Amino acid sequence: MSPKMKVFLTRLLPSEAMERLSALFDLSYNPQERQLKRKEIIRGAADKVGLISMLSDVIDKEVMESCSFLKVISNYAVGFNNIDLKVATAKKIFVTNTPGVLTETTADLAWALILSIARRLIEADRLVRSGRWEGWAPTQLLGNDVHGKTLGIIGLGRIGRAVASRAKGFSMKVLYHNRKRVEESVERELNARSVALEDLLASADFLSLHVPLNSETHHLIGRRELLQMKPTSYLINTARGPIVDEKALIEVLQQRRIAGAGLDVFEKEPRISPKLLRLKNVVALPHLGSASIETRTQMGLIVAENLKAVAEGRIPPHQVNPF
Ligand code: NAP
Repeated sequence: MSPKMKVFLTRLLPSEAMERLSALFDLSYNPQERQLKRKEIIRGAADKVGLISMLSDVIDKEVMESCSFLKVISNYAVGFNNIDLKVATAKKIFVTNTPGVLTETTADLAWALILSIARRLIEADRLVRSGRWEGWAPTQLLGNDVHGKTLGIIGLGRIGRAVASRAKGFSMKVLYHNRKRVEESVERELNARSVALEDLLASADFLSLHVPLNSETHHLIGRRELLQMKPTSYLINTARGPIVDEKALIEVLQQRRIAGAGLDVFEKEPRISPKLLRLKNVVALPHLGSASIETRTQMGLIVAENLKAVAEGRIPPHQVNPF
């Protein structure tokens, strides 16, 4: 029997995924509940063929050049903006992701943000816990309706579609913007209409972002775009922080040029501007999109599947840098 492939894992995963990875590979891992520094990743992966990285691990040229045995980087996420794909491809290192399994869970979270920002749930929870709640009042913590409003989606891919399909239950109008229109059958099923970005910005009551982060989508939503939104509208970001110019967002929120924002992701995670956190019209979550036990387990199993393919000399099923 050939020896098991040597794999380094940067963070502990749910137990079922850890068991699977330990059974399949000669696995080393960071046992601590903290993010590794670049030099620690390099030390851990220096003699490994497989690296399991998190979206918070920057896997750049220096890491890949220092880990000369690497054949596969199996990212524990659907996004892969944390990995320098050009360098990986030039070195013929497979880069893989975990698409699909986190779609519904992330869409659920986008909806949690829509409902909590529009109906002021977090503010309300704080009031109740503060002991200052004096009982029902006709004008207390009035929010905005969600049902019957217009949902605008940028990026009608897997997650964007799952978010749109939930809008049916709220009798919402759905508009979207992609680089190219999706199939008519999908538009029909979701009751979604393709519009230009300016029209989407001007019409949406809830603007939800679902594009990947890359050089084209960096600051896709800047001051100019935010000012095209209605003063009563909300921005929801469960995609990646740098898709929004956070400084511009803080300004328009302070000036009440939009009604609020529901954010799961930030430009420089885990650092968040104190100015943003002072705003009442913001719900801020610590990048929880895929954070259910079922989904995080499934993501671990897919990571294992991608590595196993490489160990067996096959092309991994979720390679994102074909070569
Ligand atoms: P996907 O299926 O690839 O969907 C992305 C969509 O964005 C596609 O429909 C694509 O269509 C569109 N798009 C790409 N570039 C665009 C542009 N410049 N302008 C407008 N539309 C553009 O990806 P997914 O699985 O839905 O995931 C989307 C992103 O969500 C991931 O990349 C990840 O960063 C993020 N995410 C976050 C969490 C979290 O924890 N918060 C969890 C999961 C995923 P066209 O190519 O036709 O334009």
